[in-house]
Amino acid sequence: MPAMRPLPLLVAALLGACAAIPPTPTNDPVLQPLGHGLWLLPGRFPRDRQPDGNSLVLEGQTGLVLVDSGRHAEHSQALLDFAARRGRPITHVVNTHWHLDHLGGNARLRDALPGLEVIGSPAVARAVGERFATFRRDLEGMLADPKTTADVREMIRVDLALYDRAAALVPTRSIDGPPQALSLAGRELTIGHETAASDGDLWIFDRASGVLAVGDLVTLPVPFLDTACPARWREALGRIDALPFGRLLPGHGPVMDRSTWRRWRAGFDALLDCAASDAPARTCSARWIEDLGPLLAPPEHAVAHGMIGHYFAQRLRAPDRDRFCSAAGA
Ligand SMILES: [Zn+2]
Repeated sequence: MPAMRPLPLLVAALLGACAAIPPTPTNDPVLQPLGHGLWLLPGRFPRDRQPDGNSLVLEGQTGLVLVDSGRHAEHSQALLDFAARRGRPITHVVNTHWHLDHLGGNARLRDALPGLEVIGSPAVARAVGERFATFRRDLEGMLADPKTTADVREMIRVDLALYDRAAALVPTRSIDGPPQALSLAGRELTIGHETAASDGDLWIFDRASGVLAVGDLVTLPVPFLDTACPARWREALGRIDALPFGRLLPGHGPVMDRSTWRRWRAGFDALLDCAASDAPARTCSARWIEDLGPLLAPPEHAVAHGMIGHYFAQRLRAPDRDRFCSAAGA
């Protein structure tokens, strides 16, 4: 593994944790009803592949709104198949941020739906225009390294194919600034913008159901800190807590109620406090696992140790830990 700039796709973290990730589920992606005209397509995070983020489908009077489009073809195809079965058009996609596990499906959706409106933060176009070429070079370097394993090579090829379609990933409409009310396909939403897990994260609050989709502002088994601004992320979670949601959909992991959310948030605060102390990283990851309790199944404990150890070295205790705290971050 080269000493690298943070890749926005968890390759580096996975290299530290792959061996411990549970075996791949072989079933096809299946959407789960959440009531109130909402469905969840859970993002998968198997051993031999990079993750897909969760996708949320919201049904309005005039069509379907998606939150995030996944990375792999199976994920976006499952969304298209669902829309076909419902007999409703997908009219909008809102991307919570620019990581490929939430954005990569845009190209496939657009191929099928040429009039699709795609909403994202300004950071999406910035990442595509300024960062993707560098990430691509890093991946090509890993591909050229004979020590790179076959599993990782396959992960890299999936992402290189998405970088080939970069122009089809960018939004048609950008949102930032204070939270704003929007009606999409007849669904009444509030969309907010934060700098937290990336330099431009959107959250989407569905007022009818009380469901709040936050992308990678909340993830399991650990916070994904590859392109994070940790201090601003902590502040953003305070603003999230003030929203009147009943259920919260993380970017990775199952739907949370309020008490589960509070447990996760307390764990996040403790993790950042621990990172700022002299405690060894392993002590801090053990505390994270203890704080999250039933939110982490025992097979995920080793993954959490591996990923947090990586993030301590590469982000939380790195000299350039604040590099993603402004739009100018590399
Ligand atoms: Zn993600």
